Amino acid sequence: MKCATRLIFIFGLGALPIFSAAQARPFPSPDVQQIYQRLLPQIEKIPAFDHHAHPGFADDPDIDAMASAPDTSLPVRTRDDNPELIAAAKALFGYPYNDLSAEHAKWLVAKKAELKKQYPGTAYFNMILDKINSESSVANRAMMADYLDPKRFPWVFFADSFMWPFNNERESARNPDEEVYIPLQEKMLHRWMQQEKVGKLPATLADYLKFVTQVLEENSRRGGIAMKFEVAYFRPTTFGDPPRSQAEEIYERYAAGGVPSEKEYRTFQDYIFRYLVQESGRLHLPVHIHTAAGIGNYFNFSESNVMNLESVLRDPRYASTTFVMIHGGYPLEREAIWLAAMKNVYLDSSLGELVQYPSAFKDTLKMWLETFPDKVTFGTDCFPYNQVLGSEESYWLGVQSARTALTAALAEMVSENEITEARALEMAHAYLHDTAVKLYEGRVH
Ligand SMILES: [Zn+2]
Repeated sequence: MKCATRLIFIFGLGALPIFSAAQARPFPSPDVQQIYQRLLPQIEKIPAFDHHAHPGFADDPDIDAMASAPDTSLPVRTRDDNPELIAAAKALFGYPYNDLSAEHAKWLVAKKAELKKQYPGTAYFNMILDKINSESSVANRAMMADYLDPKRFPWVFFADSFMWPFNNERESARNPDEEVYIPLQEKMLHRWMQQEKVGKLPATLADYLKFVTQVLEENSRRGGIAMKFEVAYFRPTTFGDPPRSQAEEIYERYAAGGVPSEKEYRTFQDYIFRYLVQESGRLHLPVHIHTAAGIGNYFNFSESNVMNLESVLRDPRYASTTFVMIHGGYPLEREAIWLAAMKNVYLDSSLGELVQYPSAFKDTLKMWLETFPDKVTFGTDCFPYNQVLGSEESYWLGVQSARTALTAALAEMVSENEITEARALEMAHAYLHDTAVKLYEGRVH
């Protein structure tokens, strides 16, 4: 009652001139197309910061710390026969054909080879970013490539492998997907051990944690701006909160050999995950977490969906850790936006703009921008498709889809009297660039 009275009082005084003088209406007026046409060229001019991407050439094994599972069913728009990729090749490379027959594909391969000579070293991918008006793009990769300019491609490294240090026989045998994924985690852990000149697993948990921290610090020195988890592919994302003594006991029992039970392994991982989250806050390395449905036949969405992370995200012990929900929880993006009510939680929209067509992605963005507009960031999740269609075409499709869907969402919001055009452009700058850049304290631009 008291609150209601106060609200009326404030509105009555006109003390809340939100963004628009008139009341919002539930449908766009006939001017929505004109607003879209006015906003689009301005939004196309905003240099973007791509908050999640896997740039690189198709034959580069470091593009990700994992690989595609066998015989996976990809949603239709993300397949390599999406005709929009021909439009991408036309826009980027002047591809003269309307199909990708084997004969015609040769033209595209040759054209890219010629451009790589013309733009040697890091110049090639910088040129691609220039063409799509991206100022910088995160390179979420196992390791950085010498052909990516670190000034424009800040590195986000993977932190999952620290959770799989033991004999992984049982883990790999769970299903054909894990048979591919888990050995790659072992490989990643070995690379970190080589980097720190650690010959074998330390005997105590204390020393193991010291090694983990060393890797994080070294990666930060090497230009890493955040740590990424794709843990949803490997185990459920409900994390328990075991005491250190329990993790210690398990570690010391299995560091030298032996196969832990599933329960023991999960308990140990719960402890390591929370340790990494805590270190992330201390070292100013935001945590990026894959939160969408995933590829493969055995990705268990009910065990690994974004809402399972709530007990970690809303834990006051981690208030100094910045969390970025990569892929915004898709297809639970409606629920996920409420996680951004936490001051330290952000949503990245990458993949959403590739897996959905702009008409559907527009609705996702609109709902997010109407809820926590200052907590959502743009990303493409670009990835090479095959030897012909690379991360270049994927970048183009992601950026084009996101810019048009964003413009359509904002045009509707303006037309429905929710915001002014000036506010729409502010929101566009925030989503495409400013909000993400602010998370890295001057390390990216
Ligand atoms: Zn990704």
